[in-house]
Amino acid sequence: MTASPAKLDSKERGAAPVALLAELTHRCPLGCPYCSNPLALDARAGELDTAEWARVFSQAAQLGVLHAHLSGGEPAARHDLAEIIAHCAKAGLYTNLITSGIGLTQDRIKELADAGLDHAQLSIQDSDAPSADRIAGYKGAFSRKQAVAQWITRVGLPLTVNAVIHQANIGRAGKMVRLAVALGARRVEIAHTQYYGWGLLNRAALMPSRAAADAAIAEVEALKKTYAGVIVIDHVIPDYHARYPKACMGGWAKRGLNVTPSGRALPCHAAETIPDLVFWNVRDRSIEDIWTNSPAFNAFRGTDWMLEPCRSCPRKTIDYGGCRCQALALTGDAREADPVCHLSPHHDKVLKVAVLAAQGEDAGGADAYSYRRMKSREPA
Ligand code: SF4
Ligand code: SF4
Repeated sequence: MTASPAKLDSKERGAAPVALLAELTHRCPLGCPYCSNPLALDARAGELDTAEWARVFSQAAQLGVLHAHLSGGEPAARHDLAEIIAHCAKAGLYTNLITSGIGLTQDRIKELADAGLDHAQLSIQDSDAPSADRIAGYKGAFSRKQAVAQWITRVGLPLTVNAVIHQANIGRAGKMVRLAVALGARRVEIAHTQYYGWGLLNRAALMPSRAAADAAIAEVEALKKTYAGVIVIDHVIPDYHARYPKACMGGWAKRGLNVTPSGRALPCHAAETIPDLVFWNVRDRSIEDIWTNSPAFNAFRGTDWMLEPCRSCPRKTIDYGGCRCQALALTGDAREADPVCHLSPHHDKVLKVAVLAAQGEDAGGADAYSYRRMKSREPA
């Protein structure tokens, strides 16, 4: 099914990864129904310890990685977060904390900044407090995040606000941009939900109608002009309403890698949904060995693995056939063209899902959420 590592030349294998996304823990106080973490979350007992993460970041820096994204779950649930950040800084990595804000205090943020943190990304669930708390499944989350944003900017850290857009908040996409400006963010990422992990489980309750998506896209694009020079707006438009897929992860195993709390190295955060892939663990192998030789990383590098219509398509080195995990989820075969592509023979499946979503609230909306909660997998 996949190209063997021996067949890949160094060009196909690519240069060193630019970024390593470290899921330091799957523990999280929030329960966002769009969370991209897997349904079977890693248990605390199996998490890499401080020394193991330090080794991973040293090896990543040696390989040429520049950015360490510290994510989760909620990374602040780790008591050694400052120690991990200090090690990354010593290894010369730019550190970005991706946080819900819950678990951070003013003192702790100062401690992280002093340890060498370079940047913080704070998620918000909505601009309306009751709705934000309902989406997060956590009472008081909205007001806590306002305070955390202030503490982050007060210590001089650059702040990005992340907002995931779906059926319950899509009418307030513009208000979320304005909220990010009010919170002192330099950048705001408005990202329409990607349907992996918990997001896929909750797809019917999350997917907005085409009309709502089009209105939100137009509003956010217009705000880019309004706020030029005030805040940078990154806008990730919804897959299911596009004509061509995105180059998922900039191409499979081309620019970055993920490491799960228990050390499995993945080419993307949803890669474990593809059943045939073998993932190596950073406990057993170096980052360089994994990047170069891991069967999972080499499975969809290059273009040899492609089926038609991708194989003979002029866009194949632009979008790399889109997302492998989405291809698997919607067609049953990870080698297929991402069915978001209008050239895919399975494109009707995407249209069917989008049409169902157009029926909107029939799906139950927020009342139908399966909140992301810890149902642990056993430590490996
Ligand atoms: S998306 Fe929500 S539930 Fe998932 S890790 Fe982030 S804050 Fe926690
Ligand atoms: S056929 Fe494949 S390579 Fe061509 S645009 Fe569609 S997904 Fe991309």
